[in-house]
Amino acid sequence: MNSYPNALQGLVEHLMKLPGVGRKTAARLAFHMVRMPAEAAADLAAAIIEVKRRLSLCSFCQNLTEHDPCPICRDGARVSGQLCVVEYPADVASIENSGAFKGRYFVLHGLLAPMQGLGPDDLRLERLRQIVVEQNITEVVVATNPTVEGNATALFLSRFLRPLGVHLSRPACGLPVGADLEYMDPVTIRKSLDGRGPF
Ligand SMILES: [Zn+2]
Repeated sequence: MNSYPNALQGLVEHLMKLPGVGRKTAARLAFHMVRMPAEAAADLAAAIIEVKRRLSLCSFCQNLTEHDPCPICRDGARVSGQLCVVEYPADVASIENSGAFKGRYFVLHGLLAPMQGLGPDDLRLERLRQIVVEQNITEVVVATNPTVEGNATALFLSRFLRPLGVHLSRPACGLPVGADLEYMDPVTIRKSLDGRGPF
């Protein structure tokens, strides 16, 4: 049943295509937009058009950028020889914010999912292999998330890259800062104990 005016219903349906946005959230956002001043609404629409017009993928790391190569790939102060493989551009931003990694990145834009037809070509793994060889990469940190698909993709990558003689590593899994053992799931507790270190 469509009880909204057509224009509003159309907006709700577009918003529902966004990740994590269901019908109720889409309706709430749409009503908010209806109440926005016309100028703010035009700015929002223009910002969406602008990112589509200005952003492309860096030909090296595949991250989103306004200039190819991107600022990280161009930055001569980065540690050469280290490459961190992540699922999405947002992961690069998170790791950069942590300041814990000084090498360069490779963004997969997804994970291997054979059931959904997502194979090595979709993740541009040939480009990854090329970069590892051409840029004399010696260490690859496979920082896909510790989910079933993330772990499966990491395993595939380790087999894919091992013949190139690079050192492969995976970020440690464990207790989040501020966590309470009482409320942790058994897998997280086991992983954190497996990866325990001296203090
Ligand atoms: Zn780049």
